[in-house]
Amino acid sequence: MRSKRKIWKPAYIGLGSNLNEPLQQITMAIENIKKIPNSCYILSSKLYDSSPMGPPDQPNFINAVVAIVTQLKPHGLLLELQKIEHKQKRIRNELKWGPRTIDLDLLCQGQEIIEDDILTLPHPGICKRNFVLLPLMDISPDIMIPRLSNMVDLLKKIENNPIRLKCLE
Ligand code: ADP
Ligand code: MG
Repeated sequence: MRSKRKIWKPAYIGLGSNLNEPLQQITMAIENIKKIPNSCYILSSKLYDSSPMGPPDQPNFINAVVAIVTQLKPHGLLLELQKIEHKQKRIRNELKWGPRTIDLDLLCQGQEIIEDDILTLPHPGICKRNFVLLPLMDISPDIMIPRLSNMVDLLKKIENNPIRLKCLE
């Protein structure tokens, strides 16, 4: 009989905050990510300050990427991330890309490819967002993301990204 041993897969989480002390929100989110069940925290990127992607009349964001390994299935991991958003008082409103205390996006998990009503993996924003790619590059410079080219080529594509990004460390 086959054993029920679950396998570990690396997962990368994109973090963003521009409300209620963003630096503290990011630190708190990292502490909460460390407590996700059946998962182990690996490391965090540097922190970045970025101009908003959505409506311009909102504060700058703090962004980071965190790497974990997990035995959870992608939908289970997304649920855990949404629990953390809820705990940190993320209020969902109609405004696309509006201000938020914390946004946790599952960027990719192993070689998973998913497209359903709840989850898209890899996250469709990865290849367009310097505030995701640069922190991802910090912690995993040779990552190969399903359906996307390698990190160096991805970075070339976003060289002229209008979002101003400043590393805080
Ligand atoms: P955004 O991050 O684009 O500002 P939200 O955080 O409000 O948007 O998420 C909207 C929806 O996106 C969530 O309800 C979630 O089900 C869905 N979603 C799909 N794929 C992902 C993913 N890879 N990571 C996080 N959320 C995702
Ligand atoms: Mg999100």
